[in-house]
Amino acid sequence: MNNFNWDSSFAVDFDLTTGFSKTAETTKRHLSQMKDMYYDVAAAEEILKTEDPLVYEFYELGCPERAGDLLFGTTILYPGTVGGEYFMTKGHFHTQLATAEVYYTLDGEGYMVMENPEGDTMEVELKKGEAIYVPRRYAHRSVNTGTKPLVMYFTFAADAGHDYGTIETKGYHKMIVEKDGKPAVIDNPKWK
Ligand code: MN
Repeated sequence: MNNFNWDSSFAVDFDLTTGFSKTAETTKRHLSQMKDMYYDVAAAEEILKTEDPLVYEFYELGCPERAGDLLFGTTILYPGTVGGEYFMTKGHFHTQLATAEVYYTLDGEGYMVMENPEGDTMEVELKKGEAIYVPRRYAHRSVNTGTKPLVMYFTFAADAGHDYGTIETKGYHKMIVEKDGKPAVIDNPKWK
């Protein structure tokens, strides 16, 4: 934990190219922690026989999760595929469902895959230098479709909370896969 005073102003030290911070807490997600989220679990298990790649990591500054504050940090999602499906984050709903979030792409390229509890979906391209808005009530997962790390800055209401379980049960309705060397949005066969 850091010793920031959350009731006064301070500067942060993110390296805007790499997303790394000297003071933030880091959380790492390796393939072994999320292999069942890929459609081709057998392909994930094949990779895990020889290595357990780091899929993504995120840095947060330990802001108190209270109303009126903002949580913020960076996510670094590494390039790679599992059975043709691009590396992705777990993704989540916010516990307080009606809480939006802003992501700004610092480097790399990809997609933000979103869906609400009714099953309406949105797949929005992430491009360096562009912000995207994740609306209230939408689960969100980022996907790296490029060849270098996808680095994103995010911020949202500090008391929103994370609900990973609901979307984890059956996965998202849409998948981003490599087709003829390019990203394609397809229906997740698990939902048919
Ligand atoms: Mn979120």
